[in-house]
Amino acid sequence: MSLLHVENLGKSFGGNRAVDGIDFKVAPGELLALIGPNGAGKSTTFNMVNGQLRPDSGFVRLDGVDLVGLKPREIWQMGVSRTFQIAETFATLTVVENVQMAFLSADGHLFNLWRRAAQHRRTEAIELLAQVGLAEQADRPCSQLAYGDIKRLELAIALANQPRLLLMDEPTAGMAPAERNKLMALTRELVTQRGLAVLFTEHSMDVVFGYADRIIVLARGRLIAQGNAQDIRNHPKVQEVYFGSGKTFEARQ
Ligand code: ADP
Ligand code: MG
Repeated sequence: MSLLHVENLGKSFGGNRAVDGIDFKVAPGELLALIGPNGAGKSTTFNMVNGQLRPDSGFVRLDGVDLVGLKPREIWQMGVSRTFQIAETFATLTVVENVQMAFLSADGHLFNLWRRAAQHRRTEAIELLAQVGLAEQADRPCSQLAYGDIKRLELAIALANQPRLLLMDEPTAGMAPAERNKLMALTRELVTQRGLAVLFTEHSMDVVFGYADRIIVLARGRLIAQGNAQDIRNHPKVQEVYFGSGKTFEARQ
């Protein structure tokens, strides 16, 4: 049974067909990688799933309910989270306060109530931080966190909403390989423990092949291949798109 079902999804910007009628599904407990060269349409696909962009063809169903036309906040309330960028954490607040803010928002409170809500779900916020390995940093200001820890915090904030589907657009961008692996291992664990469905984009093939259950490949808005790491490694169309014909992923590493 799939949780997310995308069919014939399309979006043009002027004459540029950024996403050209793609179909895919994500199941609960599945970590699905969406890969493809720059400009392939990955972020546009994400933005259509979470409601930031309206598709001009196709549908996006979550557990059978069509999301097209709903606002990002409505989609978020239905259990679709996306990891936030660094700029969206509150640098002046502490780590735990950032998670409490996410709880406040999930509970339908306005951010300006913050001054009266400093104790809001603090214990739960610390439990969530413990799950991402940040409990010891709970009372430090966010501005003091190392980059890899900010990424963990972004993940905790996305989880505050108890999502069924988590979208991660380049979650490990800018991270050193060891940190990348830690973040993906953590994501893998959460997927297994919570039965979460995750759709993520990623440039590092090591990460994709190491962690994804399944991989879908976009090129110029079209879905050109899907399968497991083995299928994708050996797929002639994928090798052509990434490296020109005749070369393999291995040859580049
Ligand atoms: P990816 O995330 O795979 O790198 P994008 O989805 O960002 O690719 O972009 C796909 C194509 O759509 C690119 O040609 C890009 O220039 C174009 N594009 C993306 N967003 C916009 C936009 N808001 N306005 C115009 N063109 C856009
Ligand atoms: Mg992108």
